[in-house]
Amino acid sequence: MPDFRPIKQTRASEEVLAQLKEAILRGQVKAGEKLPSERELTEQFQVSRGVVREAIRVLEMTGFVTMKQGPSGGAFVTGLNFDQLSNGFLDMYLANKLTIPELNQVRLHIEPEMARLASQRITPAFRLRLEKAIAAERAPVDSYDERMERMTEVHFILAEMCGNYLFEAIDNALIKLTHQIVDAVKPEDHDALHGAGEHDEIAQAVIEGDGEKAAKAMRAHLEKFCQELSRVDLIYKGLMKY
Ligand SMILES: [Zn+2]
Repeated sequence: MPDFRPIKQTRASEEVLAQLKEAILRGQVKAGEKLPSERELTEQFQVSRGVVREAIRVLEMTGFVTMKQGPSGGAFVTGLNFDQLSNGFLDMYLANKLTIPELNQVRLHIEPEMARLASQRITPAFRLRLEKAIAAERAPVDSYDERMERMTEVHFILAEMCGNYLFEAIDNALIKLTHQIVDAVKPEDHDALHGAGEHDEIAQAVIEGDGEKAAKAMRAHLEKFCQELSRVDLIYKGLMKY
């Protein structure tokens, strides 16, 4: 008798998942639209309800769909966003495979360059958004979360402006990871970490189209911020021990 090796059988739900994912990625079901119902999918794929449910559960976990309850509910396709990458970074951080000094190093490399690129792509609409974001930093806030959002808006706008989607994706994910850590610690003196007005010079340089000045100002801003963030990270690591 020859020595056959067992063959790995692809699980049915994985095949269903792959097909659903492909339909979403190809735009056959667009953001905001609903996937066919469980019953319809069960019939089309000719699998059990449990298999379909498992595939949809994975789609939900990985951010491809959100579930809505009720008579008109179901699995709705989300606009693909940066959450997947950001959750991946968070997992790596929690597994001690990605450290804050490493995160800082990447931001220090890419964000000055992104600010430089952004300054070459200034438009009246972006100018308005930057000016609004700068003004919003100084306005009163209701929550810690809102405060963090205001302090990061300029970074997000510049990321969008820079015109490189990969830069934008990485930067968004890194900023979101930063948020999770800061939010867990909630340092009382948030101003020490990131105060209002710290983006003024950067935004002004971008609006003026001065790439070198924008890059330099971003570097100076991040050098200070990253130093503070390392401190927050140590507190966070201390908290995790309990
Ligand atoms: Zn900042």
